[in-house]
Amino acid sequence: MMRVFVVNSGSSSIKYQLIDVDSAEVVLAGLLERLGEDGGDAADHEHGMRVVLDRLGDEAASIDAVGHRVVHGGSAFTEPVLVSDDVVAGIEAVSELAPLHNPANLAGIRAARTVLHAVPHVAVFDTAFHQSMPAEAYTYAIDRAVAERHGVRKYGFHGTSHEFVARGAADLLGRPLDELTLIVLHLGNGASVAAIDSGRSIDTSMGLTPLQGLVMGTRSGDLDPAVLVHLHRVAGLSVDELDTLLNTRSGILGLTGHGDMRDVTDAAAGGDALAEAGLAVWAHRIRHYIGAYLAQLGGLDAVVFTAGVGENSPALRARVIDRLGHLGLHVDPFLNERAARGPRIISPAGEGPAVLVVPTNEELAIARATAALVG
Ligand code: ADP
Repeated sequence: MMRVFVVNSGSSSIKYQLIDVDSAEVVLAGLLERLGEDGGDAADHEHGMRVVLDRLGDEAASIDAVGHRVVHGGSAFTEPVLVSDDVVAGIEAVSELAPLHNPANLAGIRAARTVLHAVPHVAVFDTAFHQSMPAEAYTYAIDRAVAERHGVRKYGFHGTSHEFVARGAADLLGRPLDELTLIVLHLGNGASVAAIDSGRSIDTSMGLTPLQGLVMGTRSGDLDPAVLVHLHRVAGLSVDELDTLLNTRSGILGLTGHGDMRDVTDAAAGGDALAEAGLAVWAHRIRHYIGAYLAQLGGLDAVVFTAGVGENSPALRARVIDRLGHLGLHVDPFLNERAARGPRIISPAGEGPAVLVVPTNEELAIARATAALVG
């Protein structure tokens, strides 16, 4: 029996779960918020980890290993690794690619290694699963020397989720993963699509950073890169203002005024034209990627919905799939709309590719990867 303590450390928060890997049971879970702020849960990450340890009480002694979520592993990390001083330096070295996330992840790793020094620590990277992409998929067509000097290429994110969900889809279909072609739609606040051939990511919609690709809660996803230059020239927006615009004031929020998809679907159902138009753009972008990835995969066994929106909104799943009947994709209204929680098939039995809902569980995936490496 193996117990893994999973840590997801943000700039001002620490999310944690103690997971019994064999039973997949969450023994304990919690969140510290507003680290370093007045009235926050802790003064900094190390103080935060001590607070967490207090909360764990006697359970702390049962921890066999610690699994850390790390957002960006660059090209250096292609799989989960045992944390050493060299690994910490390696994560630091790619921090320029994820200046908001990696330093926060590292603060959590440093604090946890100090407080839980007797057990092994493992880093699990959001980018690692996509390192299998071929060069033609991850290369941006810019001057090679510039790109290489600055690490500019597509890395992709949500990899832990895409991999977990692909395995879940294979289990659900009762077929080996290495025989399947899958398109996984991870639709949460952040959103990405992955084309998965024989269990390997061959393309994904996020890029150098999690800004590329789908229309997200507050992020724009794809646009003509000249939009930035144009807005700089005609509107005088600075680099920081452009960053804020594209990451926090765009996407569904920018289009509709609502940041939460439930509010957008409610507003659209109530006749709000902007909400309806925003959802049309959102679904159009997803269908764009389904078509592109169908072509790249050369076949398709299933489209898989996951994450907050993908798992919980029958209306939005139908909005995406209902115009793809010509590709053989259909949802069965009864199967799509029935209240259910677990992995399930929502397409009618028959010829075409299946449509599935497979709930993601990044913490469990991190716990399993940690156990596999340490065990
Ligand atoms: P994160 O990317 O923050 O992990 P989640 O995967 O938890 O996000 O997804 C959060 C999103 O899921 C929110 O925008 C929320 O509105 C949306 N969501 C949850 N339930 C529903 C629902 N029933 N209908 C539409 N959207 C939903």
